[in-house]
Amino acid sequence: MMAAGATRAVGRAASAAPASERGGSGARATSAAPASERGGSGARATSGHPGLARSGAVRDQRIERVEALVAPADLLDELPLQEDHVGVVLGGREQVRAVLDGADDRLLVVVGPCSVHDVDATLEYASRLARLKERLREDLCLAMRVYFEKPRTTVGWKGLINDPHLDGSGDVNTGLRMARRLLLDVLGLGLPVGCEFLDPITPQYISDAVCWGAIGARTVESQIHRQLGSGLSMPVGFKNRTDGNVQVAVDAVRAAAVPHAFAGIDVAGTPAILYTSGNRDCHVILRGGRGAPNHHPPDVASALELLSAAGLPRRLMIDLSHDNSGKDPARQPAVAEAVAAQIAGGARELVGVMVESFLVPGRQELGDGRLVYGQSITDGCLGWEQTVDVLAQLAAAVRARRAGTAGAGARPSSGRADGG
Ligand code: PEP
Ligand code: MN
Repeated sequence: MMAAGATRAVGRAASAAPASERGGSGARATSAAPASERGGSGARATSGHPGLARSGAVRDQRIERVEALVAPADLLDELPLQEDHVGVVLGGREQVRAVLDGADDRLLVVVGPCSVHDVDATLEYASRLARLKERLREDLCLAMRVYFEKPRTTVGWKGLINDPHLDGSGDVNTGLRMARRLLLDVLGLGLPVGCEFLDPITPQYISDAVCWGAIGARTVESQIHRQLGSGLSMPVGFKNRTDGNVQVAVDAVRAAAVPHAFAGIDVAGTPAILYTSGNRDCHVILRGGRGAPNHHPPDVASALELLSAAGLPRRLMIDLSHDNSGKDPARQPAVAEAVAAQIAGGARELVGVMVESFLVPGRQELGDGRLVYGQSITDGCLGWEQTVDVLAQLAAAVRARRAGTAGAGARPSSGRADGG
């Protein structure tokens, strides 16, 4: 018993390099030796840590195994951003910011699969989307959903980073590598990337490739995720809670806007206190709740009231999927139509839309034998052809809003211009 406990303690400690508590993270980052991912060194971990011996009988009683995690700096060296990638990231973030602020009258559209499970299919989707983005660039500010982390209601596959082999083996090092490589490939197509952040450590490995971030409905009330949002370099959307509560998302936007200090790791992988400056480029995402939609005009109006009451910018993204479509992907086009009508009618507060879309419509169950290429294994998605139609409809709505050709009188500020 004692021996088992001690073994666990040794294993746990092996993952943590002794932390220097002096000096800035920048200095540590450059001097850090690359982390070995092969095996732990029990001797190294316990030497100089006499406290571990006694705690070994007490701690880590349910940690089965500990492996070293690649250090962020090492993965960034292995898979560095190229100059054109940096241009896509910075340009994409700037454009998203301009849309959120109303300086750019296009609609932000974050579109792509619910989750990435197959890199090849995701890249095929990305190359189609890159071409479509060019066609719609006048009206839509398009970013691809490239989601690697799936928060689950109970249990299930947790995404490519956590389980890249789709078999529960939890090969996180391979997952991080695959994720980062894919992000670089998507950026290489000129496509900005949108990503949900779930684990507070993973941004160190991938956030330099992300133009827009999301905090999901299950974590929007979590202080950890609000703090994380306050330090992320890109605009961030916070979903309303799964029960439909929008106030918690408004609270999250307020919390993320101000500075925080929290425990995390630096780019070298060293434990660090991260001091953030606050992120003012945040917004709420309406995703429906408890099976009911919240994309209709009265829902939009009450969400905007909550934002006003909190002194926050009146801007919203609407998620066409999840509870707004009753989790039935075939209903996303109808939701798109309803949202497009509001946009065409002049609703300038609707700055963004989220679409769950992949090559093949619907979803499939992981474990049902051979997987269908290009079909989601998490939430059901629109297929490619319907996605093209939905995006064209949204683009038309933006043109109508710009021209003030629909819903005359609905919004006095929109004016009326000639032509369509
Ligand atoms: C998602 O965007 O796939 C997702 C999990 O969303 P939500 O947090 O709204 O359930
Ligand atoms: Mn989803």
